[in-house]
Amino acid sequence: MAMERERLDADVLIVGAGPAGLACALHLSNLIQKDAASGAPAISAENIYVLEKARELGAHQLSGAIMDPRGLAELVPEFEKTAPLDTPVTSDPVYFFTAGGAWKFPLTPPPLRNRGNYVVSLSKMVKWLGGLVEKSGINIFTEFSAAQLIYEGQGIAGVITGDKGIDKHGKPQDNFAPGYELRAKVTVLAEGTRGSLTKDLAAKHKLDGLNPQVYGIGIKELWEVPAGRIEAGFVAHTMGWPLDASTYGGGWIYGMRDNRVSIGLVVALEYTDPHFDPHEAFQRWKTHPTVRCVLEGGKLVRYGAKSLPYGGWYSMPRTVVDGGLIIGDSASFLNAQRLKGIHIAIKSGMLAAETICEALRAGDTSAAALASFQKKVEESWIKKELWAVRNFHQSFHHGLYLGMVHSGLQLFTGGRGLIDPWRVPAGHEAYHKIDGTPAPPRFKGDGALTFDRLTDVFHSATRHEEDQPCHLVVADTNICATRCTQEYGNPCEYFCPAAVYEMVEEKGQRRLKINASNCVHCKTCDIADPYQIITWVPPEGGGGPNYEGM
Ligand SMILES: Cc1cc2nc3c(=O)[nH]c(=O)nc-3n(C[C@H](O)[C@H](O)[C@H](O)COP(=O)(O)OP(=O)(O)OC[C@H]3O[C@@H](n4cnc5c(N)ncnc54)[C@H](O)[C@@H]3O)c2cc1C
Ligand code: SF4
Repeated sequence: MAMERERLDADVLIVGAGPAGLACALHLSNLIQKDAASGAPAISAENIYVLEKARELGAHQLSGAIMDPRGLAELVPEFEKTAPLDTPVTSDPVYFFTAGGAWKFPLTPPPLRNRGNYVVSLSKMVKWLGGLVEKSGINIFTEFSAAQLIYEGQGIAGVITGDKGIDKHGKPQDNFAPGYELRAKVTVLAEGTRGSLTKDLAAKHKLDGLNPQVYGIGIKELWEVPAGRIEAGFVAHTMGWPLDASTYGGGWIYGMRDNRVSIGLVVALEYTDPHFDPHEAFQRWKTHPTVRCVLEGGKLVRYGAKSLPYGGWYSMPRTVVDGGLIIGDSASFLNAQRLKGIHIAIKSGMLAAETICEALRAGDTSAAALASFQKKVEESWIKKELWAVRNFHQSFHHGLYLGMVHSGLQLFTGGRGLIDPWRVPAGHEAYHKIDGTPAPPRFKGDGALTFDRLTDVFHSATRHEEDQPCHLVVADTNICATRCTQEYGNPCEYFCPAAVYEMVEEKGQRRLKINASNCVHCKTCDIADPYQIITWVPPEGGGGPNYEGM
């Protein structure tokens, strides 16, 4: 039975208050002001809504983060006066790790040169950007998940926000509040990596690009270390140990102000061993002498994990449908070679805003009218930057050493390399079967330098309403207890960085137990499950981690 919902109508609805969504909102307000100066604007700021599932702005933002200021300088030309930039980058070495040693590259490869960029907390940056948006009169609704798209004709016409106050059996409780039907002339999907509405839309309208999207997972900790241990602005990247040459990924150490250090490891979700555990790999990476000597005597402040889209230009979905646009990470606007997406997310939001203004002025928000977004992207520096690395991530498909040769060649051929376009399969197809290999013992950590997953989750400040339907929807749990156990040894127990999935024995039966309230919203399970039977849907608005300062 259809539920009665309050209906609200907007001109523009933006799903996701990350750099992409907020840049779109702020640029819309700038364009409205320009229009107002020269005549009647096509929209007003009050008719623009931004939805964010986190309990407050920035709470779901996790990034390295070194920000290339190019995008922000176009959006807020005087950003250096008020933005919470942590510190400018002062040095940027790259190391190759072996089990006990480190080899420093004599020269930093051009993509990893970071002078002129800033180390930032993306969570703080987003809070600041959101403040500018709110000041312009645009409404940002935090604690509101967009749960479903409203499909209309060949496109979309808004979203239904998540219901609140439903118990775990699906029954309304005393505090039940049905979600809103939010309709808009243009709906902008700025959900970030593996957006749940974007995934649904892409499947329904066959929007996928030439390659399927491929992803990495980034595991991060923020530490406070003894004074003098690391200079603010010192940024280092590492390759090699503990990852083997067939696993794409690497680590980072970014010195911040007030003796804080951002450390992390990113790993492509295309590894072959289903028992590989990205969280454990990160913990082991911290025991390398080069990292250990920075952290020892310090304390863990925050923990988090998030996936990121690596596929680049050739994995870009069609970004436009009737009444809708896709921007930022949701649209694959990330440069995997530089591990940077913030500046491109911002620029994509700005180009979307310009497209929307033109469409609303003309009174036509069809896909044909919004198609000028793609043209704008192609004429902007986004295309120039992403086109030059269009085959970069794919070139590591056969391991680190061949990847270095191929990507080196691409530097001299404008991104072409030996194969163009380089086609790759989705990452979950890479697993080898376990063939009876027993599961390795679980990593425990020493409680000072290294931690188990539950200790880390505690430091993510994750909180969900416990009595709600499970937001990790497994289409067939029999597969978990039978085929997956035999064929792949239940990789969900290993890839989830928050110990959400557990196979338990009860009355002689093996079954999947889901500790949904630990979920840090990284989306890895939706991406990396070998049978593609896990669907991550937004939980009740306000739930999830709190990445304050991350
Ligand atoms: C580990 C890691 C390290 C990185 N390091 C760097 C770096 O050093 N430099 C750099 O430039 N980039 C880096 N990136 C990439 C960068 O963080 C992203 O490219 C950028 O944040 C993308 O912005 P976005 O607005 O598209 O998405 P996000 O920043 O992911 O924002 C999306 C927002 O939408 C919200 N949302 C999602 N779905 C819904 C829904 N259904 N309803 C309501 N709200 C929703 C989310 O809660 C989130 O707040 C890194 C990424 C990771 C994961
Ligand atoms: S349940 Fe899925 S989305 Fe949540 S933390 Fe685990 S892998 Fe990430």
